[in-house]
Amino acid sequence: MEFRKNDYVTVTIEDIGSDGEGIGKADGFTLFVKDAVIGDTVEAKIVKNKKNYAYARLERVLKPSPFRVEPGCAYHRQCGGCQLQALSYEEQLRFKQKKIRDNLVRIGGFAPEQVDACMEPIIGMEQPFRYRNKAQYPVGTDRDGGIVTGFYAGRTHTIIPNTDCLLGAGENKEILECILKYMRENHVSAYNEVTGEGLLRHILIRKGFASGELMVCLVINDKRGSGLPRRERLIAALRQIPGMTSISVSLNNERTNVIMGREIRTLWGSDTISDTIRVRDMRAPGYPFTGRELTFGISPLSFYQVNPVQTEKLYSLALDYAGLTGRETVWDLYCGIGTISLFMACSAGKVYGVEIVPQAVEDARRNAERNGIKNAEFLAGKAEEILPGLCGEEKPQAGGADVFQDAAGSYHGPLEKPDVIVVDPPRKGCDAVCLDTMLRMAPSRIVYISCDPTTLARDLKLLCEGGYELRRVRGVDQFAMTVHCETAALLERTGQ
Ligand code: SAH
Repeated sequence: MEFRKNDYVTVTIEDIGSDGEGIGKADGFTLFVKDAVIGDTVEAKIVKNKKNYAYARLERVLKPSPFRVEPGCAYHRQCGGCQLQALSYEEQLRFKQKKIRDNLVRIGGFAPEQVDACMEPIIGMEQPFRYRNKAQYPVGTDRDGGIVTGFYAGRTHTIIPNTDCLLGAGENKEILECILKYMRENHVSAYNEVTGEGLLRHILIRKGFASGELMVCLVINDKRGSGLPRRERLIAALRQIPGMTSISVSLNNERTNVIMGREIRTLWGSDTISDTIRVRDMRAPGYPFTGRELTFGISPLSFYQVNPVQTEKLYSLALDYAGLTGRETVWDLYCGIGTISLFMACSAGKVYGVEIVPQAVEDARRNAERNGIKNAEFLAGKAEEILPGLCGEEKPQAGGADVFQDAAGSYHGPLEKPDVIVVDPPRKGCDAVCLDTMLRMAPSRIVYISCDPTTLARDLKLLCEGGYELRRVRGVDQFAMTVHCETAALLERTGQ
């Protein structure tokens, strides 16, 4: 049977797609229904028809799934952020556990029995709301020309006004309303993506959950270079908010979807905020704190994990997987501001961190100093470009026979070969050159931290074909209510 556009169908949802959509079958025909929950029987309207499948819009829930819950956010269907808010949290975790497993089998080519033997249950959150320490709000105008901020509706650039996202810190609302009031009172224009005109593009807010410190960075399109008009009024209002530590602007005059500009100017307070991450014992029930903790400075442009509570568990798990005894040399690739590197440095002989963003490398060096860590060194550059040079395979680019110059201009002597390599790449995974070089460096262990199970599976396959074996895998939920999925995996060299 074939469906036509605008047909109504009744379908029972049997699965969840990788973007969180409900999947069901009607007369052998596969239907993808956004916002329908596994276990629901729904009435849906066909919106797009393909040969063997169709996309349909949820019209009515005829029989709700036992896993269906009342979403706390009124905008959850329009907003692109939370794909899973109507699914109970336990089911969200089950979905992610399965997603990791299925990818390892399907893309990674691992035998299901092997995956089941080494995969531990996903570590869920105790409080699955208000967990994000970072928010980036676009600023625009509504149909009547009023200034609004909120979130983009799924797959569009239409702003849904909402200053109180339930995933974000409670302070976001007060900060955003303070900025909107300033804009209205001082006739500050919002950026218009179509015309490229208007001043304020985005508002970045970060909060150190342990320190309580708040950072606000306003991204402006300021070709004239006149800055924020009467900015002292804005600063005076924002600094009243308890915890306010850093107020800055970022200049972005480009017509691009990239949010932040490259340049940051601090208007008030400090250039960074700080946060503390504590080490947990992941082998003991309830993962108690070990008493060791590290403090980090975070600047607007640097990457920092968005869920600090779960990050403690993720990093502690990575530390457990690394199995350090105090003597090892560890390389931490894609190290950001050096968080994992410094965790490792406490239990290793020597740590090298490699990171592409120069400001993050600067932060990492300062973070080492701040925590009194002397056995960690940071190198700026693309992992795939500088790794071959760093491991002595390529001629050093500058500075003499066995000295290597990194992209930030620092010189480094010959580096020790790794016993353990940790990688934590962005969603696209590791570059093939990086993986090949890792294989030639032949560390005894590789700890892979991933925010995308598909590229994780792809990269683990390659590493296992190169002489490694998958020993442990575990999801750590960093992104409740969304389909995003964080995983840690341990590979050991099998001696080939
Ligand atoms: N391990 C860190 C950062 C992980 S995010 C943490 O837990 O905080 C991934 C990091 O990889 C980002 O900081 C990004 O800037 C960096 N990155 C992206 N591509 C890279 C590349 N080709 N080489 C090195 N670093 C890269």
